[in-house]
Amino acid sequence: EASYTLVKEGVLTNVAELGFSPFEYIDEDGNTVGFDVDLSNAIAEKMGLTCEWLPNQAFDTLVPTIKQGGKADISIAGVTITDERLEDVDFSDPYLNSNQALIVAASSSYATDDLDTEEIQIACQTGTTGDAWIQENLPNATRVPLADVTAGMMGVSTGSYQAMVIDLPVAQNMLAQSFSDLKVLEEIPTGEQYGIAVSYDNPGLKDAINDALAQIEEDGTMDELKQKWFGT
Ligand code: GLN
Repeated sequence: EASYTLVKEGVLTNVAELGFSPFEYIDEDGNTVGFDVDLSNAIAEKMGLTCEWLPNQAFDTLVPTIKQGGKADISIAGVTITDERLEDVDFSDPYLNSNQALIVAASSSYATDDLDTEEIQIACQTGTTGDAWIQENLPNATRVPLADVTAGMMGVSTGSYQAMVIDLPVAQNMLAQSFSDLKVLEEIPTGEQYGIAVSYDNPGLKDAINDALAQIEEDGTMDELKQKWFGT
């Protein structure tokens, strides 16, 4: 049996940014739902715990919150495992593969190369891998880091920004749900993997989460969740 500490007894406390459909978002009834929510509940159940999600926090505060400790045990929030983040927090085994998407207005005739110029404003979520991709690949564009993904898509929709870079599954979901006037100009094969961020000070927790994840993979729960949220 792995031993670990929890912020609150009997509870796995998660911190996330809640505007990242279909991974975590607030539905019409005000409930926090999504793939990550179901996965966190399944993990907690395997560990004999319940799971609680804290109120919304900006994405770029999640890793610092886990690193600092005392507030949340984990961050399951579509967080890509990166070398930079591994300097501050540990991660569970990967639970999902992802890529980036470059989004533009459906009516636009841009090619990706057209975007690498100061006059072009490209939105992203602050501190994400999409944010980093813009800085590396379209260094001349005017980058617009925002807390909220929907605000970025609205801005592309209304013409305030010309493009946005965001995780591909989120782009596909949000375009299909709410932004039929936008299109994915390019799928960017970054080869990212999502993991669950945990503190280095709580190694037993990482082991217990990996055990739970392995069971979830093995007993078909993971397949059910992918079918439910992605239809694949
Ligand atoms: N996967 C991306 C990252 O980790 C975006 C995550 C998010 O916005 N929730 O940077």
